[in-house]
Amino acid sequence: MTSQRARDRLIDRLKSNGIADRRVLDVMRRLPRHLFIEEALASRAYEDTALPIGQAQTISQPWVVARMTEALIEHALPKKVLEIGTGSGYQAAVLAALVENVYTVERIDELLRNARRRFRKLGIENLRSKHADGKLGWAEHAPYDAIILTAADDAVAPELFAQLAPDGVLVAPVGRPGAQKLLRYRQLNAVEKSGWVGEALDAVSFVPLLGGLI
Ligand code: SAH
Repeated sequence: MTSQRARDRLIDRLKSNGIADRRVLDVMRRLPRHLFIEEALASRAYEDTALPIGQAQTISQPWVVARMTEALIEHALPKKVLEIGTGSGYQAAVLAALVENVYTVERIDELLRNARRRFRKLGIENLRSKHADGKLGWAEHAPYDAIILTAADDAVAPELFAQLAPDGVLVAPVGRPGAQKLLRYRQLNAVEKSGWVGEALDAVSFVPLLGGLI
């Protein structure tokens, strides 16, 4: 259930559901998703579904992770990426295999500690994490070439755009439960700083972006 064969089958499924970026598929074929969830659920790790990770949170569905990653790297491979919502750490680990530096922020300490244990176990070293409310990003390391939100809000905070490089890209689920869309924001003309324009990619279903620390 947690074998390479199970992982290969998941990759085939992602491909038939429209995921085309070889870089993303190769990383997800290698990365053991079952290490990012509790042992009791490990046998379901390679189903294409979100799974509970405690604290009323979920590890995102593999197709969603693949789609967001693909959207983030499609136009140019970013060097420095900020993720809001570490959760299990799986999305961050996928990114860490593709880009030079990943920064990730999580508001629930227990989830972050579990994720850090997984990063250590897998020998992931190009990743830094912080226990904080990510609504305002992580200004200390800005600007980022890309920002990814893995929890949904009605709109993206201006503070996050302020931490993006002019030709950067931001991918986020936006909207209320039941009516969320995955949006990709870019500037049409980065030189003139024309303003951030959102392109709707897919209908999605994410847990909400919440304030405050736990
Ligand atoms: N990327 C994660 C998805 C986890 S679900 C994964 O691959 O497993 C979304 C996560 O966002 C949850 O862990 C939740 O606690 C976190 N979150 C919600 N609001 C947040 C905020 N304001 N700042 C930081 N993290 C937040």
